[in-house]
Amino acid sequence: MAVPQNKITRSKRNMRRAHDALVAGNPAECPNCGELKRPHHVCGACGHYAEREVVAQINEIDFEDEDAA
Ligand SMILES: [Zn+2]
Repeated sequence: MAVPQNKITRSKRNMRRAHDALVAGNPAECPNCGELKRPHHVCGACGHYAEREVVAQINEIDFEDEDAA
């Protein structure tokens, strides 16, 4: 098993960790429903992208339609 040849000093360890902080997301408002969504992603609340519906929501699908035909 590989073993570090030298001890990493507190200074070097902390310098490495200086870039480890998490950055906050950049939420954008959905133009259709106003919910906050990730930029360049389909809205999780209403299924719209670029102001048109691209993903049907589960409560909008009519499952009784096949029996009527
Ligand atoms: Zn939306």
